[in-house]
Amino acid sequence: MKVTEHIANAKGETLFSFEIVPPVKGKNIQDLYDNIDPLMEFKPPFIDVTTSREEYVYIEKNGLLEKKVTRMRPGTVGICASLQYKYNVDTVPHVLCGGFTKEETEYMLVDCQYLGIDNVMALRGDAMKGEQYFSPCEGGHSYAKGLVEQIAALNQGKYLIDELKMEHTPNFCIGVAGYPEKHLEAPSLQNDLKRLKEKVDAGADYVVTQMFFDNKKYFEFVDAARAMGITIPIIPGIKPLAVQKHLRLLPQVFWVNLPEDLIDAVEACPDNKAVRQVGIEWAIQQCKELKDAGVPVLHYYSMGKSSNIKAIAAALF
Ligand SMILES: Cc1cc2nc3c(=O)[nH]c(=O)nc-3n(C[C@H](O)[C@H](O)[C@H](O)COP(=O)(O)OP(=O)(O)OC[C@H]3O[C@@H](n4cnc5c(N)ncnc54)[C@H](O)[C@@H]3O)c2cc1C
Repeated sequence: MKVTEHIANAKGETLFSFEIVPPVKGKNIQDLYDNIDPLMEFKPPFIDVTTSREEYVYIEKNGLLEKKVTRMRPGTVGICASLQYKYNVDTVPHVLCGGFTKEETEYMLVDCQYLGIDNVMALRGDAMKGEQYFSPCEGGHSYAKGLVEQIAALNQGKYLIDELKMEHTPNFCIGVAGYPEKHLEAPSLQNDLKRLKEKVDAGADYVVTQMFFDNKKYFEFVDAARAMGITIPIIPGIKPLAVQKHLRLLPQVFWVNLPEDLIDAVEACPDNKAVRQVGIEWAIQQCKELKDAGVPVLHYYSMGKSSNIKAIAAALF
């Protein structure tokens, strides 16, 4: 079922969902299941599975370093299929511009269709590790909008180049990213919102936001998006702060601001166990307010460790 259908069926009740990251190559998938199992009692109607773009590694050969390309967390579509089968839950594979040609994307979408995956999240992806700016691969999309257009065209029965009549067209529900504190590269929040509107006009069905720690940012973002004519659901993405170093890392990587009260509380912690507890309590307060405001879904970034998400969900669902 589509994410938008789950939202419609909930009739105003806030749903619980979360995002997981595929295991690093070589790790057992059982670790992933062990982290998902405790969250299933909160009945997520869908689970997102991220995709990682390629990275360069240098391999020594005959005393020389050879540059090679690898993907450290493969398996997004396979994991989606295994979760659907194991938990009877809908899954949302993330589809990236970065590191994929349009043809490879079409191949992945056909796989998704055969597997009965009804939702995809269309994203540009970040710059490659060690590079300052994003650059598309040859034959790939430059912005998420192009990806949305490709998926929407497939929904209309149009392949990239093959003039074939589809006996059964896919009907993907398309999610896109939104940034309450603007995307790090955007010249302004208003300009970023215009770009979001372009993704919506291209066929996006719902938005999931970047993490934020001050609900005011989300509420203002939703108001600004509505004023711009964006009417689709805007799902808040929530990340519980978990370790001291998040104070520096999250603003640097995700361009988010942390409220003073949260910073003070984390700085007063003697160790990361205490930080994790602060993160849980902060997220519970945030989520209570968001739930009271009637957000369609509370969507959690789990980063592979679920005990904090479980504690938050237990207080809310
Ligand atoms: C919910 C969520 C899930 C995510 N999952 C993943 C994941 O699984 N894997 C991963 O690698 N990353 C993921 N990301 C990170 C995401 O890939 C990065 O934030 C990326 O830098 C931007 O992706 P986007 O889809 O928002 O890009 P876009 O919508 O393409 O926007 C990127 C930037 O370009 C600007 N822009 C857009 N169109 C134009 C144009 N025509 N001309 C000039 N500027 C333009 C925008 O304002 C923005 O600054 C996720 C982010 C979120 C919020």
